[in-house]
Amino acid sequence: DPRLQAIKAAIRVVPHFPKPGIMFNDITTLLLRPKVFKDAVEIFVDRYRDMNISAVAGVEARGFIFGTPLALALGAKFVPLRKPKKLPGEVISESYVLEYGTDSLEMHLGSVNRGERVIVIDDLVATGGTLCAAIKLLGMVYLEPCTHNVSNYLCLSLECI
Ligand code: 5GP
Repeated sequence: DPRLQAIKAAIRVVPHFPKPGIMFNDITTLLLRPKVFKDAVEIFVDRYRDMNISAVAGVEARGFIFGTPLALALGAKFVPLRKPKKLPGEVISESYVLEYGTDSLEMHLGSVNRGERVIVIDDLVATGGTLCAAIKLLGMVYLEPCTHNVSNYLCLSLECI
């Protein structure tokens, strides 16, 4: 896809941020280029159109940026997967280890129901810990917590810029 080269070129790589040794991929430079930003979203829209996607779950915070236009274009609901203590209602949560620290993701109970087809979106996968936590969180809708089995997650789809 010829659009991918422009997308890659629009992401700035910042060495030693936020800690020495980390090569940080900064997507804010992509957001400054409306045509490239639009292409990035449209690639996902084209891929998931007509796939009966009913929810897009965006990982705080950069997953919100790409997830909301994707949800609107697909006619799907948007479900924020948030950092701890941000959601006012009853939540389920999942902890994970980051490249730099540990954190948790929380989701409002009832925002996704059993049997829905969900896209999980974030801007970047590094260790994969964040997206694994997101999948487990959504898997709790399908299973009792602590009985996770990968085959039960195959109905979930992962995406990242
Ligand atoms: P992982 O859990 O895969 O190690 O890290 C991915 C998560 O950390 C994502 O939520 C992502 O936003 C953030 N992250 C880690 N490294 C980077 C990076 O280089 N650039 C950006 N934009 N986000 C990063």
